[in-house]
Amino acid sequence: MLTVMKFGGSSVANAEKIRHAASIIEKAYNKGESLVVVLSAQGKTTDMLKEKALELNKRPSKREIDMLLSTGEQQSVALMAICLGNMGLPAVSLNAAQVGIETDTAHGQARILRIDRERIRAELDNRRIVIVTGFQGIDRNDDITTLGRGGSDTTAVSLAAVLHADTCKIFTDVEGVFTADPRIVEKPIKLREIGYDEMLELSSLGTQVLMKRSVEMAKRYDVQLEVLSAEGNKPGTIVREVKRRMEEMKISGIAKDNNVARIAVVGVPDEPGIAFRVFNAMARAGINVDIILQSYGKDNTNDISFTVAIEDAEPAAEALSELQDSIGFDHLSVDTNVSKVSIVGAGMMSAAGIAALMFEALYDAKINIQMISTSEIKVSVLIDRAYADMAVQAIHSKFFGA
Ligand code: ASP
Ligand code: MG
Repeated sequence: MLTVMKFGGSSVANAEKIRHAASIIEKAYNKGESLVVVLSAQGKTTDMLKEKALELNKRPSKREIDMLLSTGEQQSVALMAICLGNMGLPAVSLNAAQVGIETDTAHGQARILRIDRERIRAELDNRRIVIVTGFQGIDRNDDITTLGRGGSDTTAVSLAAVLHADTCKIFTDVEGVFTADPRIVEKPIKLREIGYDEMLELSSLGTQVLMKRSVEMAKRYDVQLEVLSAEGNKPGTIVREVKRRMEEMKISGIAKDNNVARIAVVGVPDEPGIAFRVFNAMARAGINVDIILQSYGKDNTNDISFTVAIEDAEPAAEALSELQDSIGFDHLSVDTNVSKVSIVGAGMMSAAGIAALMFEALYDAKINIQMISTSEIKVSVLIDRAYADMAVQAIHSKFFGA
């Protein structure tokens, strides 16, 4: 049996945590499992390294940043191998170059193209525990790349895919995937399992348990994931293709995303081509647009509103201002005090009235809805940020009774 384990930064933050993670590894090894262990940088190391660079240069080269950040993971793997050595366990640490994790050249957000299996296989054949740096790769110029923040999850899933691992366990500082953020809701429920598509939606809607790309990868290569806490011995949440659910849960989770801004283009002429010009301008500026709403305004005009990530609000407004004369709209308004609250669940497709239940919860809590968008497995609303946590709790109580 081959298991890939990944320990996040908090689970290797100091000597004590490393020893504890090592004891989990030891137990699995002694059961006869072949083990590939992927590690993140210790604690806040990645942030600290980034700060050091910014002290010296406000706009450092992305190549050098990758060179710097990748050292965090290299420390973790060496320390873990050293710790396992002290316990009498055969372990070898490898970085991305040594394994052969080949990526494209997009520094800071590289994608994995290919992974060599030979070195890892050879080490496993010798009954060694293989400890691999997460988050990093090597491009065709032999330069070090990184996969984007939280990228160790993606390293772990990719290794599990190419090695055909039986399971990929993601050890982290939460016990699994909950119906809502435990910091917001009083009695969130830990899910025993969740489908890839639901997990993907939750990851894109603001739930930060797994990096979204790692879930995409797990779905594509059918890698079964388990998210669990490194502390204690409790089962976590399994992420896999869920066909039919045991307990009848109408939704799987509620997510909140504060990284949204709402832009309204007020008083555009009611004629063909306006939406095209507005959103073409966004596309040309490389800005992703999320919820879109067009409504009737005064005197044969429409209002077009949409949401973007907060950091895109200013560039979006600038690009639109340039169009004011040619389109002839009245004015723009930008609101950065909004949040998107969403419910996600594969069960929605076959159950009527799920959206209505969510709206009722918001009505009961006297929270006004500014925008709504839906897909097969989610309903999102845009509301005033001041009420976002309240909304999450109200919706949770409505669906889960607490
Ligand atoms: N150390 C990297 C980060 O903090 C990668 C990871 O933790 O997965 O983003
Ligand atoms: Mg991290």
